[in-house]
Amino acid sequence: MVDVKIKEKLQNFIGGNWSDGKKYRDVVNPATKEVITQVPLSTQAEVDQAVEVAKRAQKEWALEPAPQRAEILYEVGRLMKEKKDHLARLLTLENGKVLEEARGEVQEGIDMAFYMAGEGRRLFGQTTNAELKNKFAMSVRAPVGVVGIITPWNFPIAIATWKSFPAIIAGNAGVWKPATETPLMAHEMAHIFTEAGLPDGVMNVVFGAGAEVGDAMIQHPNIQVISFTGSTETGKHVASECGKQLKKVSLELGGKNAVIVMDDADIDLSVEGILWSAFGTSGQRCTACSRVIVHEAVKEALEEKLVTAMQDLTIGNGLDDGIKVGPIINEAGMEKITKYIDIGKEEGAKLVKGGHVLSEGSFETGYYFAPTLFTDVNGDMRIAQEEIFGPVVSLIPVASFEEAIEVNNSVTYGLSSSIFTKDVNRVFQAQRDLDTGIVYVNAGTTGAEIHLPFGGTKGTGNGHRDSGVQALDVFTEWKAVYVDYSGKLQRAQIDTEN
Ligand code: NAD
Repeated sequence: MVDVKIKEKLQNFIGGNWSDGKKYRDVVNPATKEVITQVPLSTQAEVDQAVEVAKRAQKEWALEPAPQRAEILYEVGRLMKEKKDHLARLLTLENGKVLEEARGEVQEGIDMAFYMAGEGRRLFGQTTNAELKNKFAMSVRAPVGVVGIITPWNFPIAIATWKSFPAIIAGNAGVWKPATETPLMAHEMAHIFTEAGLPDGVMNVVFGAGAEVGDAMIQHPNIQVISFTGSTETGKHVASECGKQLKKVSLELGGKNAVIVMDDADIDLSVEGILWSAFGTSGQRCTACSRVIVHEAVKEALEEKLVTAMQDLTIGNGLDDGIKVGPIINEAGMEKITKYIDIGKEEGAKLVKGGHVLSEGSFETGYYFAPTLFTDVNGDMRIAQEEIFGPVVSLIPVASFEEAIEVNNSVTYGLSSSIFTKDVNRVFQAQRDLDTGIVYVNAGTTGAEIHLPFGGTKGTGNGHRDSGVQALDVFTEWKAVYVDYSGKLQRAQIDTEN
């Protein structure tokens, strides 16, 4: 049981006010299938209202000096730190990930608050030389206006901070639509924004379904940028709708991430890295390792140690001590994973561990799936190409380093990759040749730090990055400013010889 009090019905947070919904949907703890609260299913009307207050609030907020905006973000970070344990428990309750991981996710948000608050005294532009005498040239970052933030259920607080904090520090206001599966983090963050002194209307939370609230945000003429994280399928829809309006859109989408284990790798360390990145968050991370590309010389040794280590993965409610793997988010997630197990078998992959729903005894009341290992997988198989989003790993044997790189790069996604090797030449070749946005050496596919850019290539996105200083590019426009103090008209490219 959890020792925190949760409101029976959540409310939208618009212009600093809390408002009831007209319709609601149950929010379910995936570890127990118990209803923990209800989330409003809002409509276009609430989106219009939120955009209107955001538009008004943004004008004042943008005039506030950035170091003053930063003071509020520092306070947001301090409050998150103070409430870290409370937030983490709620996060486990709504999402299922084990408490230790939930604490890590909240910490990521705290780090982001302090990092972006620091940007309040930077937000660097450039000064440069003008080509004419007595003329000054510079480029500055300008806020875009009202931003639309759409977030998934698998990292309900970290991803929201990667988007809302750079948006806030840069002088924007926003409307945030969290996933309906995990609304508690947004509800808590809205309280924290108020407590930290963020002016009313600068960040608003509108709960509701993607097709209704998300679409209303995408179509809204007064939202200038959509920052979206979610599946590639939804991302394509978001991108095409934004494209029709020439609306700026930042997409962070799916992944099919691989760990490469070379013939000189530390096998025990590789196994640890694979376990953490494949089965943490029950494989429901965008950076989850779902392929292990292994040199044939060490394939048997790795497989044996991996299977043995998988025996020790304790599965259960993430709030309980000693649990390593929590539940799957919901029934739809379970069905998708089950479908891919059937596909893997039909394709001829060898199922060596797991591959089934856990429903007996204490598992009866939750959504649990056995950690699964397929071996003798061919890189072209669907289980090696498509995002499964569950605790399922495919072992793909290869004969050389070059083949490993080729197999890694053969998928349509490009988020994260990793290589285990002791050969420094291979390390540098791999970081050059792996075509993902993130590369790890002698670590699993997960573990991003917030001051580096986060995002992927190919089908994982559209070239933008969350977190890092690069996140500011999503929420600012570059403005070029020329100041001519010659007292006469000087024409660029023409009067340069005077
Ligand atoms: P999803 O695409 O189903 O939903 C994401 C968000 O979009 C939710 O808030 C949802 O309500 C909303 N949405 C749904 N339909 C919409 C529509 N028509 N218009 C506007 N918004 C809509 O994804 P999910 O199942 O919540 O999340 C899992 C996916 O997210 C996985 O594919 C995972 O790889 C990806 N992900 C990517 C990253 C990354 O940074 N690359 C990080 C986390 C998750």
